[in-house]
Amino acid sequence: HAKQQGRNGYRFFEHAMNADVQLQMQLQQDLRQAIDNNELVLHYQPKFKAPNGPMIGLEALIRWQSPEHGFMTPDRFLPQAESSGLIVPIGNWVINEACRQMKVWSDQGHNDCSVAVNLSAVQLQHISLVEVVDTALEVHELTPTQLVLEITESTAMHDAETSLKVLNNLSALGVSISIDDFGTGYSSLLYLKQLPANELKIDRGFITELAQGNDDEAIVQAIIALGKTLGMRIVAEGVETSEQQSLLTQLGCDTLQGYLLGKPVPAEVLFTSVKAELGEELAAEKAVALTP
Ligand code: C2E
Ligand code: MG
Ligand code: MG
Ligand code: MG
Repeated sequence: HAKQQGRNGYRFFEHAMNADVQLQMQLQQDLRQAIDNNELVLHYQPKFKAPNGPMIGLEALIRWQSPEHGFMTPDRFLPQAESSGLIVPIGNWVINEACRQMKVWSDQGHNDCSVAVNLSAVQLQHISLVEVVDTALEVHELTPTQLVLEITESTAMHDAETSLKVLNNLSALGVSISIDDFGTGYSSLLYLKQLPANELKIDRGFITELAQGNDDEAIVQAIIALGKTLGMRIVAEGVETSEQQSLLTQLGCDTLQGYLLGKPVPAEVLFTSVKAELGEELAAEKAVALTP
């Protein structure tokens, strides 16, 4: 009996595993078509000057609206995109689409804010990325300061020599480099010092329990001091409460981003949705900041 059960259990497991492998393979296959089928879309999350405005930038965050798999955030398909190399064409699409949209906003008068694009490690392994960015800026008539490229410490650590060369070339174009999820990687301060970075984003992990009387306050304070010493602008990500908002401001954080101030939304509803979520009074204030 036990043997029989064990067998069935094994078969069941094998079956479930096959189904999962098949789903992953199907996902990757479908992702290959996603660009051509117009299934990829960028949502945008605002960055605000601390404590509550004006808006100084927008971060582009990719989503995949698949007829087969439904609406997906990047955790569902970025790993496949990265392991298959599809992240290169997808990443190029993101850069171009974000620049195209930024040009539209810029022409509408929102020309004092920038758009940020996240980069994967694989993208930084290709020197051709510099040409892609340069061309996108030219085609969409943006000034380089209107584009920010967000990398993580680990992204930059992956074949550090090539990454550093690509980053230096990107920086030479005049675009800003931002270090995302700071504090979660393993890069040395020596390496960090070499990066041509203009912005440092404190990882949400240090923000979540901030203002609850733990070590996070001291850590955040130290990160702010470090970033400022290296001449970087400091952004806190994942700000969800007004306590975090005021403490971060008090600690000298320049820029705030998080659900409290604005969630990622599709481009077409961005300016209206910021208003809707803030409530009318703040919205009126913000509208002044957002409207040219
Ligand atoms: P990230 O760049 O660190 O972006 C922040 C993530 O946290 C986003 O998740 C955002 O929706 C979420 N977030 C923002 N504010 C809050 C908050 O107050 N609370 C909480 N709980 N979450 C918040 P999302 O959009 O799922 O993106 C996840 C990650 O995927 C990004 O992390 C980024 O590393 C990557 N990613 C997104 N778009 C792209 C892209 O176009 N290319 C590449 N290579 N990576 C991307
Ligand atoms: Mg980011
Ligand atoms: Mg981040
Ligand atoms: Mg992240």
